[in-house]
Amino acid sequence: DGKATTAVKEEAGDNARSRLSSIYSEANASYSNNGVETETRKKKVVLLGTGWAGASFLKTLNNSSYEVQVISPRNYFAFTPLLPSVTCGTVEARSVVEPIRNIGRKNVEMSFLEAECVKIDPRSKKVYCRSKQGVNSNGKREFDVDYDYLVIATGAQSNTFNIPGVEENCHFLKEVEDAQRIRSTVIDSFEKASLPGLNEEERKRMLHFVVVGGGPTGVEFASELHDFVNEDLVKLYPKAKNLVQITLLEAADHILTMFDKRITEFAEEKFTRDGIDVKLGSMVVKVNDKEISAKTKGGEFSTIPYGMIVWSTGIGTRPVIKDFMKQIGQGNRRALATDEWLRVEGCDNIYALGDCATINQRKVMEDIAAIFKKADKENSGTLTMNEFQEVMSDICDRYPQVELYLKSKGMHGITDLLKEAQAENGSNKSVELNIEELKSALCQVDSQVKLLPATGQVAAQQGTYLAKCFDRMEVCEKNPEGPIRIRGEGRHRFRPFRYRHLGQFAPLGGEQTAAQLPGDWVSIGHSSQWLWYSVYASKQVSWRTRVLVVSDWMRRFIFGRDSSRI
Ligand code: FAD
Repeated sequence: DGKATTAVKEEAGDNARSRLSSIYSEANASYSNNGVETETRKKKVVLLGTGWAGASFLKTLNNSSYEVQVISPRNYFAFTPLLPSVTCGTVEARSVVEPIRNIGRKNVEMSFLEAECVKIDPRSKKVYCRSKQGVNSNGKREFDVDYDYLVIATGAQSNTFNIPGVEENCHFLKEVEDAQRIRSTVIDSFEKASLPGLNEEERKRMLHFVVVGGGPTGVEFASELHDFVNEDLVKLYPKAKNLVQITLLEAADHILTMFDKRITEFAEEKFTRDGIDVKLGSMVVKVNDKEISAKTKGGEFSTIPYGMIVWSTGIGTRPVIKDFMKQIGQGNRRALATDEWLRVEGCDNIYALGDCATINQRKVMEDIAAIFKKADKENSGTLTMNEFQEVMSDICDRYPQVELYLKSKGMHGITDLLKEAQAENGSNKSVELNIEELKSALCQVDSQVKLLPATGQVAAQQGTYLAKCFDRMEVCEKNPEGPIRIRGEGRHRFRPFRYRHLGQFAPLGGEQTAAQLPGDWVSIGHSSQWLWYSVYASKQVSWRTRVLVVSDWMRRFIFGRDSSRI
């Protein structure tokens, strides 16, 4: 009986299998027509990275004709502007992260692989990846993924400038784990300095915190640490009060050089009042496990004993991007060069955004020169005023950075001509326009117009822009909406990327923040701190993190920061 039952079961299994296989063949037949795939196949977009650029791309993409494969070594998005707050427990690490699988629209098919891309092969349209865990029964960690479109948003890594000892002895502040490590090390330093059997010099060294780099991250960390020490730690470690020292080393002549002069001056004065030792013009040359050596502009060397160093001197290129740049002939650059549509130069269907990419400024300037040449129809070197105005407005429309530059500096020649043109409004008078002179004037713009800053703001705007382009890819194929091509006929499918600067903050501690908003509007003090709270609460990627961050701030107001080392 048992055998009969097994035979019946097997027969049923065979029937089910053959039925399934016929369903599968039917499905296949409707999918392919004589072996040729029909148009219904979804285009595969591979997205590398889950940072600001990647997350905003995912959050915006809203076209079900794509299948998105996200690959990143971390399965969450981290709100980096709050990392300095995580270093001192003002905000908890889990409050600033959101699982990447929660980000993205429901109608877009998305899957995630927790792995690092180690090689990009544009010829075979594949990315090669390595996971931390074994991915098959052999425990192999490598695998490859095909793509139709590749979006590179791998960000950048901390730059050590190859200074000896930095990698081994300094803390970086780039990832959530870095912030957690810094938090433990700060508390460790206080615990170690409280142990018996140490002399005062030794305790002082342990409680000497050095920050290298006077940019926004270094300055914010120094002020957070100052507040943590003075508001919370000195109450718990009263003997340490007179031993703690915070030093900020900056190679340039001022801190916060990308901010308005008023902010720089205020920050330097406030730090001096707070007892933070700001050493300007100090270039670190070597670090060992107990001392940091710096050189001043005058050539003097000094050696400073330290307990902990936080290194925050800017960003460098990731190895996978370096390797890719070599493959495509961009080996001598700092970041992947793209055009203004964020397409990687020299590649098809590959886009790069955020900190790993930069819009090729020199190419932009060549394009501007080409616009002039094109406008100069008879090649006589003269344009009518109306033609000139048209050309200038076309340039300023496409290249807002040039417009900004012209407005702020007033460039000899071009602005004079513009003023003249305005006075003559509507006039058809011809002006002599020497194309060669113009080109050299544009080279001047090239060297002075700043590249887009490496910020979350730029990365997020680029992610949104690119997702919107992907959403409208098919429609715009038929009805292009971009500007007229400089080379070749017709229009570009999309308008080029335009950055809208919304302002920047520099928290300076003691519930004071400096804010520089568009139109060079500067505000410093307690009111800007409230603006900072509201902007950063509103910028959170989810309601969950918004609630967590706000409740962390309230907890800190009521109970202070937690100094347990767990
Ligand atoms: P990231 O956000 O760095 O993301 C890169 C992603 O790529 C990560 O998910 C990473 O895991 C992944 N990745 C790395 N290697 C690989 C690989 N090989 N394969 C696949 N994936 C990979 N900007 C502001 O605008 N305002 C601020 O207030 C501000 N404060 C900051 C404070 C701190 C402490 C820091 C560190 C940065 C701050 N920034 C701020 C800058 C901002 O965080 C960056 O400019 C922004 O993160 C860049 O976004 P991104 O997507 O290019 O790179």
